[in-house]
Amino acid sequence: MKKPPLIFLNLLIFVITTAVAVIGVPLWAYNYGIGLTEIFVAIALFFFTGMSITAGYHRLWSHKTYEAHPIVKVFLAVGGAMAVQNSILHWSSDHRVHHRHVDENGKDPYSAKRGFWFSHMGWMLREYQAHRYDDYSNCRDLQKDKIVMWQHNHYIAIVLAANFGITGLLGFLNGDIIAMILVAGFARLVAVHHVTFFINSLAHIWGNRPYTDKNTARDNGVIALFTFGEGYHNFHHIFANDYRNGIKWWQYDPTKWLIKSLSWLKLTKKLQVTPEERIEKARLQMQLKHAQIKLINLQNADEVLLKIQEEYDLLLHKMSEYYKTKKALVKIRKNSLQASYENFELDFKYKELKQSFNLQREKWQALYTYYLEPIKA
Ligand SMILES: [Zn+2]
Ligand SMILES: [Zn+2]
Repeated sequence: MKKPPLIFLNLLIFVITTAVAVIGVPLWAYNYGIGLTEIFVAIALFFFTGMSITAGYHRLWSHKTYEAHPIVKVFLAVGGAMAVQNSILHWSSDHRVHHRHVDENGKDPYSAKRGFWFSHMGWMLREYQAHRYDDYSNCRDLQKDKIVMWQHNHYIAIVLAANFGITGLLGFLNGDIIAMILVAGFARLVAVHHVTFFINSLAHIWGNRPYTDKNTARDNGVIALFTFGEGYHNFHHIFANDYRNGIKWWQYDPTKWLIKSLSWLKLTKKLQVTPEERIEKARLQMQLKHAQIKLINLQNADEVLLKIQEEYDLLLHKMSEYYKTKKALVKIRKNSLQASYENFELDFKYKELKQSFNLQREKWQALYTYYLEPIKA
């Protein structure tokens, strides 16, 4: 099949920025030297522009996982433009299609099923999406957002002003305009490009799938380290409305920490969180599936599978009872500040159920490990 025509503007942008970053910057450093200030500014702008994509383009605008103050939105819109990945409107439209038709070659704009290169950069180099280039019908909500439309309508001007204006001004203040534009402009941009592109490529290839195997998205703590927390992509694809990608407090997700910190300053609000029970259920379902697949060849498979299924059903039952009581308790505590008899009784039941649920969970985990570890090894 004949490939669609090249998009020369995109090709030119990638070739020039990459050439300047990998050839121009080292040459300049060798001949004239580069100071710590340039490096420090580049790192700061790396985080600012990268997280404008993850916290802004991705979690705020594409998925609406929280609401932000207009000041925050302006910052994210400028930072996002400085990351040169098209406008918020265009990016979000692509991204919503990606979620809706994930892995469907021909529909998913950066389908990982078409290989690493295609999902990383290849998809931007040719007219693969020409038929829907100006179709923003899946982003009508964003078309009503004044900041989104301001950025969309003045995109090129904002890109140039941010990339050359901000770095140029900082360079002027530091006494070396060209060095600053080279390091904090070009080198930083190329780095941000690749780390964010890794979310479409690597995060759909490398890692495990603890929540769903219906798509290629993976969870990978290593990828999270250089994608501002977006490496927990398996969780993200199943619970895309959650403002977090790494849900455990210790999982490296600076984007989540930024959004949460801003909420303490009242600059963000309505942070969406998936109910714990739904997350746990998805995870257990995958464990059961793994167990079933791995145990099918055992000699006494029927017997073992039956046992596993029984324990699993019991666990789900206990879990549902536990969360139901927890919910009731939270509600009653909210309504009555004073300890009532009802409250006391429910509290007792809650503690009992919690213990029973935890015991059953331990039993399940032990069973799961017992049957799966020797096979894995
Ligand atoms: Zn997403
Ligand atoms: Zn994805």
